[in-house]
Amino acid sequence: MRAVMKMAPGPGAQVVTNAPEPELKDDEVLIKVGAAMICGTDAHLYEWSKSAQDFNPRLPLIMGHECAGTIEAMGASVKGLALGDRVSVETHLFCGHCYPCRTGNAHNCVNMGLLGLTWDGVFAEYTKVPATACFPLPESIPMDIGAMFEPAGVSVHALQRAGNVASNSVLVCGAGPVGLVVIQLAMLYGASRVVALEVNPHRLKMAEKLGAIALDPREANVPEFCRKNFPRAGGVDVAFETSGASTMLPTLLESVRREGRVVTVGHPGQAVPVDIASYINKKGITLKGVFGRRVWDTWETLLALVETKRLDLSWLITHRLPLDQFTTGIELLKKDAAKVLLHP
Ligand SMILES: [Zn+2]
Ligand SMILES: [Zn+2]
Repeated sequence: MRAVMKMAPGPGAQVVTNAPEPELKDDEVLIKVGAAMICGTDAHLYEWSKSAQDFNPRLPLIMGHECAGTIEAMGASVKGLALGDRVSVETHLFCGHCYPCRTGNAHNCVNMGLLGLTWDGVFAEYTKVPATACFPLPESIPMDIGAMFEPAGVSVHALQRAGNVASNSVLVCGAGPVGLVVIQLAMLYGASRVVALEVNPHRLKMAEKLGAIALDPREANVPEFCRKNFPRAGGVDVAFETSGASTMLPTLLESVRREGRVVTVGHPGQAVPVDIASYINKKGITLKGVFGRRVWDTWETLLALVETKRLDLSWLITHRLPLDQFTTGIELLKKDAAKVLLHP
C-alpha cells in the first residue's frame, strides 16, 4: 500500500507504494484512512529535530497520527464497533491496565504507544490501532472534520486544565492550529478579552479575525502590555503557551497577574528554567501542562461543540493534498498553512 515512511534517523521521509498492509491482532481494528492531517510533530519528525528524537521514534515507521477513517476489518475479540463504522483515532494508545489508566488518566499511560512515532501511523491507505483507541463519529461529522478532532482535542484539554475562563482575560502564545482553537474556545467559554501572540503575520491575522487582540511579541513588550491593559488585575488571568518556543514561558509568567494560571501545550526543544521562588511561590502562579487529550471526556466535549455548530473547525483546513505530496505539505506548514489535509 501507499504510505509516507521515515526509514532512518536524519532529515527526510519518503512516499512508498510497497508498505506492508497491517496485520491485525485480536484486539485491533483495520482502518481505511479517509482523511489525515499533518501536525507540527510530523514536521519535527521529518526534520529530525531534538523534540522529535525525544519521543524515541521507532524506525522504520509510517508517519502521521491525525486521521479519521472507516473500519474495514476487526480482530476476533473487538466489541462495541462494527465494520463500516466511521471513527477518529486517539494518538495515545493506552494499555488500560496501568495506574494512570486505572485512575482516569489513560492519556498518560505508562505503557503508551504513540501513533506515528512508536507505532505505524496514518499517512497510508490503511492503519491499524487497538479498538480501544477508536472514537466513533456520528454521521453529522464529515471525515475531514473527524481528522481535526485529535489536534483540536489538545486545545479542549488545555481549556480543561485551565479551569473556568468565563470573564477572564486570556493570553494565547502561538496562533498555529492548536492556539487558534484555544482562542476560539476561550471566547466560546466566555473570556472577556483574548490576546494572541504570534510572529507569522498570516497567522496573526487569523487570530485577529477570531476577535483576539493580535501582537507580534518581537514588536511589543508583552508583560507591559498586559499590565497596562488589565490594570486592576495587574496582568492577564490565564496564559496558554502553544508555540513550543523555549523563550516564551518567562514572558507568560511575567504577563499573568498574581495567582494567575499558565498552561503549557507546546513542547520546547530544550529544558526551560522557571524561577520557582518568584513566580510559583511568591506570585502564586499555577503552572500546568497538557499532553494529548483526556479519553474520552475531551473528545465528547469537542464533539458536542462541533455537532451543535458552536465550534467551527472547517476553516482551519487551508490546504488539501494527495498523500504523495506529503513533502509539499511540510513546506506549506512552514509558510502560511494552518492545517494541511492529506487524502490517501
Ligand atoms: Zn498532532
Ligand atoms: Zn496504561
